[in-house]
Amino acid sequence: MKIYIIGIGLIGGSMALDIKTLYPDATVYGIDSNETHLQEALDLGVVDAGAQIDNLSDADFVILSVPVDVALTLLPKVLDAIGDNSIVFEVGSTKAPICEAVTNHPKRRNFIATHPIAGTEFSGPSAAIKGLFEGKTNIICEVERTAFKLQEKALELFKAIGMRIRYMDPKAHDKHIAYVSHLSHISAFMLGKTVINKEKHEQDIFDMAGSGFESTVRLAKSSPAMWTPIFKQNKVQVIETLEEYISNLTQFKDLLIKEDYNAIFEEMESVNRIKEILNGMNVKK
Ligand code: NAP
Repeated sequence: MKIYIIGIGLIGGSMALDIKTLYPDATVYGIDSNETHLQEALDLGVVDAGAQIDNLSDADFVILSVPVDVALTLLPKVLDAIGDNSIVFEVGSTKAPICEAVTNHPKRRNFIATHPIAGTEFSGPSAAIKGLFEGKTNIICEVERTAFKLQEKALELFKAIGMRIRYMDPKAHDKHIAYVSHLSHISAFMLGKTVINKEKHEQDIFDMAGSGFESTVRLAKSSPAMWTPIFKQNKVQVIETLEEYISNLTQFKDLLIKEDYNAIFEEMESVNRIKEILNGMNVKK
């Protein structure tokens, strides 16, 4: 089995590690515009060899795991280069633009649009983790547009690496993900900014920061190169979520100005039910 991973960073590298464990006879090739990353992936044993887009004609699987703006231009070229029996999947955090980009491509049936809901705030092949996808959800969009036999091949791989499948319309995906992922990242970035701007002496931040601050601001370590194109592609949905979030922040501030501590208590108490919601999600997993 020949597997080509384009973009051998956190997600592509983690897929490579699982595939190499599950299918020891597979050859995993890495394609990356960052030569340091490719060399690192070879040194760490994440991939077996380097390759080029021109080599894709004999691929069984092609996994496209690059920033979402790059994926828009690269996916049509990848589909041009593959053979009739190859299946290509893309793992980007937005789904409507990529589905639109290849809607009329003659090899559209060789493509499956996915978003594995798994990751960390780190990038590059050294961030790759074996078992990252175990028990996590993989959102698949427009599955009916992928050839049935190739869908089966992809689903078998997703199942083997431990993923649960959820089917969704690309626009619904982008709307929902704006709340649970994109807004969380903006919130962490702006929390980090607020604290950095206020506390000029970084040692003070370090001394006073408890685990609460550290875990809340964790996502602010994420890569701007990955996140800028996500916000660009999902701008309308992200603005809508930001407006709701800003309105909630303003409302909280107004309660404090009015010294309405009963309302503040009730506000927080009503949000405490997030515990049950998250516990329910963990039970389902
Ligand atoms: P990453 O660790 O930065 O890896 C991406 C790799 O692709 C980097 O080595 C990057 O090189 C390379 N690359 C950039 N342009 C390229 C090109 N034209 N051709 C070949 N390689 C290229 O990123 P990641 O976190 O794995 O994210 C990859 C995709 O997964 C993104 O679409 C993201 O939205 C999606 N995703 C991420 C997460 C997460 O938690 N991180 C979760 C789910 C889905 P440079 O570093 O030099 O740019």
